This record gives sequence, C-alpha cells and structure tokens, in this order.
Amino acid sequence: MQKIDLILLKYGEIALKGLNKPLFERKLLDNIKSRLDKVGKFSVRRAQSTVYVEPLDETADMQEALKVLEKIFGIVNICPVVKCAKDMDSIAKTAVECLESLDTAGKTFKVEAKREDKKFPLNSPQICMELGGRILDAALGLSVDVHNPEITVNVEVRQEAYVYTQKLKGAGGMPVGTNGKSTILLSGGIDSPVAGYMIAKRGVELEAVHFHSHPYTSDRAKEKVIDLAREMAQYCGKIRLHIVPFTQIQLDIIEKCPENYLTVIMRRIMMRIAEKVSNRVGSAALITGESIGQVASQTMESLVCTDNAVNIPVFRPLIGMDKEEIVTISKKIGTYETSILPYEDCCTIFVPKHPKTKPQLNEIIEAEKALENIEEMIDQAISEEEVLIIK
Ligand code: ATP
Ligand code: MG
Repeated sequence: MQKIDLILLKYGEIALKGLNKPLFERKLLDNIKSRLDKVGKFSVRRAQSTVYVEPLDETADMQEALKVLEKIFGIVNICPVVKCAKDMDSIAKTAVECLESLDTAGKTFKVEAKREDKKFPLNSPQICMELGGRILDAALGLSVDVHNPEITVNVEVRQEAYVYTQKLKGAGGMPVGTNGKSTILLSGGIDSPVAGYMIAKRGVELEAVHFHSHPYTSDRAKEKVIDLAREMAQYCGKIRLHIVPFTQIQLDIIEKCPENYLTVIMRRIMMRIAEKVSNRVGSAALITGESIGQVASQTMESLVCTDNAVNIPVFRPLIGMDKEEIVTISKKIGTYETSILPYEDCCTIFVPKHPKTKPQLNEIIEAEKALENIEEMIDQAISEEEVLIIK
C-alpha cells in the first residue's frame, strides 16, 4: 500500500459562495474535525480552497480517516498525497516511487500539475513536460495518453510539493449545518433514511421523529430505527431522535374512524405531532420518504390529504423516484441491510383491508371530528417522548 503523508480535500460548490464562502468553509472544517475525532488526532486547516488533513501522532489512522472523509458532505474530491521538497528532482523521485507501488506495465498515463506557489521556477505546463519525461525515463512500462490516461500523476506545488495518483470521490453536497434544520419522519423502512440523507446532503441538519406502538411493535423495531439513525449519522452528522409513543392515538383512531381511512388519518396525526416537535426545536420543515403511487397512502389524492394536515412545509425528496432507484441509494449509504430486517412498523400493524386510494379531504376532516380528545392526546404523546442523541 502506498504511504499517505496527508490528505488534501477539494470542495466544489462552496468555492462559488462569494462573500459567504468563509462561513461555509468554517462549517466544513468543524464537521471534518468532529468526525475525525473518532479515528485519531489530526490537524485540519485550509488554504486556497483546499483542506489539509495531517496526522498529529501515531493514533491517527489515515485509512480510517479516508473512510470517514468519504461520508462528509461538502467534499468533492479526496486526495491521499505524498509530500516532498519543492524541486523537480524530489518531485520526480516521489512520483516514480508512487508509480512503483502501482501495476504500471503496459498502462497509459499523464501528468497534471498545479502551481499555487508562483515563485516555483517552472509553470504548470513545464512541470507536466519535465515530469512526464522523467517518468518515461524510469522505464516503468508506461506510455503517454493525455486524453484518456489510465493513471494520472498529480503534482501540486504549494508550501511544499504534493504528489498523488489517486483521487477519491467525496460525498458532494453542502456542509451539514449551512442550510438550517428539518425534521425527518423516520420509519424502519427503506425510504425514509434515504429521504433524510438527500436533504442532509444539501447542508440541512436533521432532527428525527419516530412513532412507536409499544406493545404492538417490539423493542427490536425501536432498536432498528436507532441503528438506522446511527448509520445515517455517518453522513448527516449528529441526529436528535425523538421516539414518540403512538399506541393510544392509533387505538383511538381505530375505534372511532372508518376503517378505509385509517392510514391517511394516522399519517395526518403523525405530521401534526412532527410539526409540533419541529416548532419547539426550531426545525423549518418536515421530510418524508413518500413517493407518488408507491402504496395506497401515497396516491396523489392521499398526499394532498396528508399535506393539508400541517402548516409547515413538507419536503419529499423521493417523490418522483422508483423503488429500485431508492434501493440503489440505500445500498450505497449502508442503510439497506438494516431497513430490510423484518420488524413490524406501527403502520404495518392495523392495516385496513381496503384502504381508500382516492380519499376526499372533506370526508377525512369530517371523520376526524370523532377524535374529540386528539389535541390532548397529541400533547400527551409528545410529553412522553424519549429523546436520544445519535452520533
Ligand atoms: P419507509 O421505507 O420510509 O418506511 P414506506 O414505503 O414504508 O416507506 P409508509 O409506511 O407509507 O412508507 O410511510 C410513508 C412515510 O411516512 C415514511 O417514509 C416516513 O417518512 C413516514 N412514516 C411512516 N411510518 C413512520 C413511523 N413509524 N415513524 C415515523 N415516520 C413514519
Ligand atoms: Mg414504512
């Protein structure tokens, strides 16, 4: 394995932020520092739209650091580099050593150079020419292809010189915490963790609400949601998870409302509870994992009824996605295996035999009048919430 002296991180969109750029950069740096804490001591600093991550002592595990960094929003590329002195002899020696650790026989390459230090005697094209020639002289079985190379040797001349052949893809998006806070309604399924991930990717901090129907749903079902939140937190950062008891409300709905409206009414009450929690914690919007037509409670008519229950905006990032596309993302972010564990959710117990696929809002509002004590029940459920900080 090639040695890594330090890691350079490149960010895309943030660099375009004009006057607000320092704000975004500072948040990104804070996020990187707090996440790297788990894998050792590092120095994290920035200069010229690049973040430098350097190990401070033996506890700093660079391979583990790469894994952590790949999940931090706001980073576009991750470059594990070898540093050397700022002269062509050292740069060429280092580049050849890097290439020797790769399988180069019969492969094509090119050199890309960036000269941040304008005092360096060669400019970028000259560095490419000179280094390309020296690599060919080293007889590693390489030939040049500047259009479609199999290997790219990168050189950056900054305070020191940096050489790297590997450019890993970052998670993209914006640093979490630069775009306010929203509340994800988190079930144990495949969809809602993906929905949360997608909104967090745009820099939004997540608060999560989960409805639990003890004793109809088991402790294992609750554990599963905590596990999902933990997996999401690797991308989304710290998540405060509110576990709200929902059994009394569900039983009340089942007793008093028409069976074919159960799911939509249940969903409307969930939204109202999530809205109240959001108002209290300063969350600006709700997020759900709904997608048009996926199930009876997600037809256009059902979504209209659900949406109408609250005044807060509701974001549904999966709205136009097929299940297959959602599954692909959930596998990529590592929540899929947990999501498919077979523990019942509060929505899968008490499922009506013939749910209305085209519910009428006025009929639902009429039906909900039977729930005379619903306001008190909502406040009671919220007062009994269990709050966990998931990191
Ligand atoms: P998911 O994979 O998110 O469970 P699903 O297809 O099972 O999706 P539904 O059960 O119809 O969807 O739920 C739709 C959305 O309602 C979920 O994506 C989630 O945002 C919210 N939701 C459902 N059940 C719960 C719950 N027990 N706690 C919190 N939110 C829930
Ligand atoms: Mg579900």
